[in-house]
Parts: sequence; structure tokens; C-alpha cells
Amino acid sequence: MIERIDELPWLETQWERLIERWTLGRLPHALLFEGRNGIGKSPLAGLLAKRLVCEGTERGTAPCGRCKQCELVAAASHPDIRTYRPEDSRVIKVDQVRALGEFAVASPQVARHKVIILDSADRLNINSANALLKTLEEPSPDVTLILLQQAGKPLLPTIRSRCQSVLLPGPDADTAADWLASALAQRPESEPVDVALQARALRLANGAPLLARDYIDDGFVGGVEACLNSFRQFLKSRLAPEEATKPFVKLGLENSLGLMERWAADLARLGVGGEPEDPEVADILSYLATHNPPHRVHGILGDIAEARAGLTYNVNPDLEIERLLLAWLTFMPRKQRAG
Ligand SMILES: [Zn+2]
Repeated sequence: MIERIDELPWLETQWERLIERWTLGRLPHALLFEGRNGIGKSPLAGLLAKRLVCEGTERGTAPCGRCKQCELVAAASHPDIRTYRPEDSRVIKVDQVRALGEFAVASPQVARHKVIILDSADRLNINSANALLKTLEEPSPDVTLILLQQAGKPLLPTIRSRCQSVLLPGPDADTAADWLASALAQRPESEPVDVALQARALRLANGAPLLARDYIDDGFVGGVEACLNSFRQFLKSRLAPEEATKPFVKLGLENSLGLMERWAADLARLGVGGEPEDPEVADILSYLATHNPPHRVHGILGDIAEARAGLTYNVNPDLEIERLLLAWLTFMPRKQRAG
């Protein structure tokens, strides 16, 4: 939750435009926030929701923070703002979208306007997307829908065509690093986080600072480090497969696949004489690159894609990761593999 847009300065231009359109009565009833994960789509949607219900904003673009509406938002109990996101499931269920539809047509309770935030709109399945279409096709004038899309995940064209896309940029590298450092320094019981760890978190988050902060807070950066060590030891035959898989399983299958995709991409770059994005893995990947023709990367990428396709089903993470580690092992020269 943010109070003012200057907390996410790279989104200021888009914010000003949104508020200008709102002030002119020309804000579309359905917005689709698009942009990389971890650049602040969700806090921006929260701030916009607060601004749309605020009743004391004659002076500026920020919510006033003092009116009854703003107080209810601050207490996270505003009855006219609702957020829907996947719960105990990979998808947004049709029941949730039906509830959303009922909320959309009901009268506002305490504000003049209602706001619906649909987080992870790319996780609508066919049934829930069809249910949402009804709401999008017959909009009530007193409701604004804000759909948040995860970067790179497709949204059904029927949904997309009924929303106004708002493309949100990420910060440049310096702004991201500054934001992260100051966010970490502001934590109440903050132990200093060293700069190298911050840089690593930002790399893993593809430069998205809010995601990098989460990666530090939830121990993801440390988990990745453990995977890397395990990967290195396994390729040198110093670790049995069932041991080597453990840190990956702990990191989660989807995260592990993302990590291996990064390694494969770096292997491809190194194979054609380029620079890797992750210096931490460069030693081992350079070694693999010098012992394999560049086209072999397609093989491992295919294996990873296959495992990713299996995510929808309840595949066994241990087995999937072990299979992938064994695929990576085939990149090692034979004498090394024999140990
Ligand atoms: Zn207010």
C-alpha cells in the first residue's frame, strides 16, 4: 500500500494521465495494467482505488488521506473496493467472478464510486473469463475495474479488447537500486542488507525493485544461492541427484524452472561469445559453453518447457528436477562426469 505516487516515481507520468482522465470524467470503466512483475502494478491500483473513492481531492492528484473514505481505505475496510485474486488455486474461479459481477451491479455503500481490482487477470480460466465478459459488456457507470496482468502471460482477446491497456514502465537501474536500498533501510527491525545481495536480488527480479525486496524478505535470494551451489556440486559429481534436488524442491518447481531458464539463456549467450546476465553462475556455464556446441541449449530449453507445461498438473517436483539436473549433466565432458 502506498500513500503517494512519489513512492514509485517511475509511475508518475502514467498516474498523472489516469487522474487527468478521471477528473475529466473520461476514465474508461475497465483498465488493464500491464508491465513487468514487481514494478508496482498492485500498489498503483490500490492508490488509484483510494483516489477514485476519495471525497476531498480538489487540490491535487493524491487522495486526501483525511476524508471518511480515505480512512476506511487505510483501515483496509472500504466496502466499495474489492480485490479478487486466485485463492488456494492457480486460477481465478468462476464463483469469484460471479461474486465480482454481483458486486459490480450493486449500489455503492458509502462512496459514490466502486472499484474492483482483479489481480492476476491472466489466471482466469475459460469459464471465469466468460463470466467476466458479462460484467465488461454491461458496465455500470459507478464502477471501475482494474485488471492486473502478469508480464508475459497472455490474456484472452475477448477480455483484452474490452479493457483500456495502461502500459506501466519499470524504473531505470539506478532508480531501482536507490528505491530498494531505501525500502530496506525503512524496515522497522532492519538488519543492513549488503549491497551485493541487493544487486543479486535485483538481477533475479529483472530489475523490478518491489519484487527484489520480496525476494530478500522471503529468503528467495538465499534459496537461489543454495540451488546454485547444489548445481555446481552435482555437475562435479560431488552430490547425488536425490541430494542435489533438495534446494530446488525447497525453492519450488516453478521458481526452479525460471532459474534454469536463466542459466540456459546465459549458456546460450556464452556459447556465442556474449556476456552472461548472472555473474554468479558464469564460471560453471562458461565451462559448459566451451564443451558444447551452441545448439545444444535448445535441448535443455525444451526439457524445461516440458516441465513447465506439466505445472498445471500435479507433477512430482523431485522427479522433474532430477530429470532436469540429469539433462544438465549431459553437458559435462564424460571424464568429468565419471568423477
Ligand atoms: Zn480522501
